[in-house]
Amino acid sequence: MSSAPTPMLRQYLELKEKYPGTILFFRLGDFYEMFNDDAIIGSKVLDITLTARQKNTENPIPMCGIPHHAAAGYIAKFVRAGYRVAICEQTEEATPGKKLVNRDVVRIITPGTAIDEQLLDSSVPTYLAALCGSGGGYGIAYLDLSTGEFSAVEFEGAGAWRSLISDLETIEPGELLFPKGLKPLLESEFGAIGNDSIKPGGLFESENSSRNTSITFTELIDSTFVSKTATDLLKHQFEISDLSVLGLENSPLAVLAAGACLQYAFDTQKAAVTHIKGIRLIDRKDHMVLDALTIRNLELVRSTSDKSAKTLVGILDETCTPMGSRELRSWLLRPSMNLREIDARKSAVRDLMMPILRGQIRSELKKVSDLERLIGRVSLGTANPRDFNLIADSIDGFPSIEAGLAEMESVFGGMLAPDLQGLGHISDAIKSTISDDPPALIGDGGFIRDGFNPELDELRGISLSAKQTIAGFEEAARQETGIGALHIKFNNVFGYFIEVSKSNLSKVPEHFERKQTLANAERFTTPELKQWEQKVLGAEEEIRSLENKLFKELSGFVNKHSRELQRAAKAIATIDTLASLAETADRRGYTEPELHAGDELLVKNGRHPVVEAYATEPFVPNDILLNNSTDRLLIITGANMGGKSTLLRQVALIQILAQIGSFVPASKAKIPICDRVWTRVGASDDLASGRSTFMVEMTETATILRNATPRSLILLDEIGRGTSTFDGLAIAWAVSEYLHDSAEHAAKTLFATHYHELTELAEKLKGAKNYRISAKEIDGKVVFLHKLEAGKASQSYGIAVGRLAGLPVEVVSRAEEVLKILEEFELAVISKDSTRKGLAAAVAGANATEAVAQISLFAVSNEALIDELRETDLDQISESEALEALRRLKSRII
Ligand code: ATP
Repeated sequence: MSSAPTPMLRQYLELKEKYPGTILFFRLGDFYEMFNDDAIIGSKVLDITLTARQKNTENPIPMCGIPHHAAAGYIAKFVRAGYRVAICEQTEEATPGKKLVNRDVVRIITPGTAIDEQLLDSSVPTYLAALCGSGGGYGIAYLDLSTGEFSAVEFEGAGAWRSLISDLETIEPGELLFPKGLKPLLESEFGAIGNDSIKPGGLFESENSSRNTSITFTELIDSTFVSKTATDLLKHQFEISDLSVLGLENSPLAVLAAGACLQYAFDTQKAAVTHIKGIRLIDRKDHMVLDALTIRNLELVRSTSDKSAKTLVGILDETCTPMGSRELRSWLLRPSMNLREIDARKSAVRDLMMPILRGQIRSELKKVSDLERLIGRVSLGTANPRDFNLIADSIDGFPSIEAGLAEMESVFGGMLAPDLQGLGHISDAIKSTISDDPPALIGDGGFIRDGFNPELDELRGISLSAKQTIAGFEEAARQETGIGALHIKFNNVFGYFIEVSKSNLSKVPEHFERKQTLANAERFTTPELKQWEQKVLGAEEEIRSLENKLFKELSGFVNKHSRELQRAAKAIATIDTLASLAETADRRGYTEPELHAGDELLVKNGRHPVVEAYATEPFVPNDILLNNSTDRLLIITGANMGGKSTLLRQVALIQILAQIGSFVPASKAKIPICDRVWTRVGASDDLASGRSTFMVEMTETATILRNATPRSLILLDEIGRGTSTFDGLAIAWAVSEYLHDSAEHAAKTLFATHYHELTELAEKLKGAKNYRISAKEIDGKVVFLHKLEAGKASQSYGIAVGRLAGLPVEVVSRAEEVLKILEEFELAVISKDSTRKGLAAAVAGANATEAVAQISLFAVSNEALIDELRETDLDQISESEALEALRRLKSRII
């Protein structure tokens, strides 16, 4: 920059200093400008041209800008890329002679605090999270600023940090606030968080360099996490004198985290967040725990292979409103462990299985807009006139929904109906204030209904008649001047003017005053036109400010009722979710499960809800029995592609569906309450954190073995595949025994495996059972029957599946040959046949008895060495012969 910055740039730099860690959108006229590093980042992220200010000086200043009316889309791009954007506006009108207008930041938009529609997914909540604590325990709060939904959880004791990370990954907040002290721990979990410099004002720089997560990490100054500050904030926000009203009196860590969330909400919104009306302390014992890994492995909300809707939520979600869709998702991620709650939901679903009743309620629900977010926008002052009409239309549908609720036998009918009552006056107020088809932007004006305010009507009358008078001037002026192409026009800069083309200038009378010269025309005014222009513009100015005042009054009125509206929105979300569960159950032929406090899980003709929905072949249903005694560990073998993984997942999905209150894809189901579903499925490297496939597998297994309880359900889809066959088999064997025998950790376990040796376990352990998924070979081809039956499988049909997958014919036939030899080799080993050849030689087809045996699938040939050693008579050989024998034996050790 050359010498001293201009006053405007100084103003910019001061604001930049005050809001570090943000991209500053600096309002200049109709544009938001970015300078220096922000401009360089902006030009890349937004894909716009980078220019410069003070171009011809020694130090030109990088700059780029975007038109203010298109800002929303650009902000969305930044926020999606993990940046925070500070919006700086002019805070006073520019007046002639005034060199520099005041400017200030009016809002900061961050990944966790976005409330604009463009940044939100209607069926997924966006959370801001705040974390605090130490080795002894942690607290985390989650705030959805768009709806005001606010909750907090505490984690204590051994494993607190792991449980917290699991919860964090389940909820997937857009942004996580944390104090400095927790940075090392977070970095050990998510990778480097960036070079932060903590500065006053709460916000600070942090690059989102995290791995495996889309969370933006934001470190806050330590003073944000002070008990007294947090307590005062909560008391003030919720207008209470004691935290016990919120049930938070014994939850100091939850209070600290909640306080940080609120503080950040104020700092970024620069407005009261009155729609945040309460906070829920979540007791983890009330919910089945589903960690991020399990959510992913079971494809509950996201498909692992692509972005398709082939997920459980994709099948289940028949909701009619965005609120219902978000509610269903939240039920799914935190299934209930409360039998009474589950039974109540189920009985409502049962009622709603009646097609006429459900149809009636659902057709009304379809007319309800996203009330939760609309109310949020009203409270934060960002709602537009159309938003108000959507609120009114939604309320108008409530009486019909209520009528439907009255027909339900379930407690839900009686419980939810009152929440939808008594809101008609809000709708009336909105409808009498806002016109039928208002503009989307307040700035466009004309949204207050005619007849609502006499003063406004009068002003509109004045404006209209003045406009009509001006319109009349046009014809009169044409007559007077004889210029047919004379036009009276209007624009925002010059107001009203008479436009005459250059060719007609000679006919312009004396009393026309020149206003502006264009290339092909001149613009004039007259004293009379000026007088009427004043009337129009004066009236319009008054109209604008009166409309704004009336709009503010309406906002205030609706905001005053936000608690009732939020309650109604929650009732709509619940009824929509229940009706959606019934719709899916009816469409897909699900039945009501029996939930019970015992330990038996019995499913007759169970199906995988997602596989059956997308399968081209009819789905083969299967029965399952699990309990904590005789059928606690099921070892499932069978052909590749037989359906083992499908079966495992289907049991877990049925368990989860039952615990959210849904019907299930089975002809009959008796389901116990489960505290957690654990999955050890597939294999993937975690190279970024230096963990190999096998290490990841073992870490996951260790976590399960240490934490499962008798009320857990464990899915093991193969274990120990990332190491040598014997190591893997040994581990799988020991893991099975442990899960079967451990008093503390013996959970219901489904173990799918290709280790046929494990089937012997089932014969030995009294709580273990062998099952196989059948396949048969017809004309040399495998036919998968997908049927689960008692007993162990005889073959894996791996080579047949390889052929199906397109392995070259030579490879397939060679594999068949090798397999045959391997099987013979194994038999020879088992029968201790000392005449057999070395494996490599056997496979190569050469007669080489001395050949060195290679590591094989069943490489137990060291036993042969031991036998040879055993048979050597040491008294009969010389020292040199003994040494030679030793050398030979050593070279053959595997
Ligand atoms: P692998 O051992 O190779 O991992 P697997 O035994 O785990 O195989 P799955 O992946 O569960 O087999 O199933 C393979 C395919 O078979 C599935 O993608 C599905 O299309 C189909 N399938 C599985 N179970 C059934 C069933 N019960 N009815 C119909 N089709 C099924």
